[in-house]
Amino acid sequence: MDAVAASGIVKKFGDLTVLHGLDLAIPRGELFALLGPNGSGKTTFFRILTTLIAPDAGSAVVGGQDAVGDPAAVRAKIGVVFQSPSLDKKLTVRENLAYGGALYGMHGSPLAARIAELSGALRLEDKMDRLVETLSGGQQRRVEIAKCLLARPEILLLDEPSTGLDPAARMDLWSLVASLRATHGMTVIFTSHLMDESARADRVGIMSDGRLVRVDTPAALLAEAGPEILRVATVDAMRVSEFLKSQCGLAPHALEGEVRASASGAHAVCVRLTAALPDAVGSTTVSKPTLEDVFLFQTGKRLNE
Ligand code: ADP
Ligand code: MG
Repeated sequence: MDAVAASGIVKKFGDLTVLHGLDLAIPRGELFALLGPNGSGKTTFFRILTTLIAPDAGSAVVGGQDAVGDPAAVRAKIGVVFQSPSLDKKLTVRENLAYGGALYGMHGSPLAARIAELSGALRLEDKMDRLVETLSGGQQRRVEIAKCLLARPEILLLDEPSTGLDPAARMDLWSLVASLRATHGMTVIFTSHLMDESARADRVGIMSDGRLVRVDTPAALLAEAGPEILRVATVDAMRVSEFLKSQCGLAPHALEGEVRASASGAHAVCVRLTAALPDAVGSTTVSKPTLEDVFLFQTGKRLNE
């Protein structure tokens, strides 16, 4: 059975359709990334999977339970960390965890034992009696994750987990995720607008304007973008684009101050282009594709404007 099976998910806010019929299956144990720019609908989709809002059409089965028909059963299977902090900053770490556990119906010594276990796993032992407001962003995120792990969820959903974290705290976060997967076989689903972070996932769903445009492994997505990416910094994107199309048989994307195209033999193209349009070409770069290129080729837009 899949951890998530969503089909035909539609969500509207008034006249605005934010999700246009999403279909997505995520097998158990997978690390899945939902990659898309701000406003593409990632959080809205997460809110549906976590039963906070109902879709206007479609169905979502999470942990084998129906998110619309039986939200309580779904909540018993999941742990979720949203972008906006859910901790009480005027309470200590221990108090926040105790309060979180009480919401799951946990009490007394089983709760205390679970808190002790998680404080160890998340390296919070020496922070337990500090007010949350005195902790760094990375430490607070670890407390949030500890809180959502209290009831031993099967599925962990993290909405933009690394936003606001420094590089060291990000590395910490991903090693924590790796150990949760290794020790508990946990399914971890996260959203991101960052390509490098999404490339860590087993599979990536590329989201644009409320649609999942591609879902595949990072390797397969990158392979589709071709062996080499040519980037031309230019003051005349139209002319460069036209040349690459008509003279080199490429399918370039003209962007603000830049033209980008998938090209095998990109270095030879650079030489021809620079010889033909010396005034228009500022600089040329050849690199391997990234998920940002995949996003551009799928949508015609940059991932992060
Ligand atoms: P993301 O998480 O990818 O940045 P969101 O799911 O937060 O995207 O938002 C998708 C779109 O839905 C945006 O245009 C946003 O303004 C709109 N939206 C989200 N929540 C609401 C709401 N409660 N009411 C109206 N519009 C909303
Ligand atoms: Mg969001």
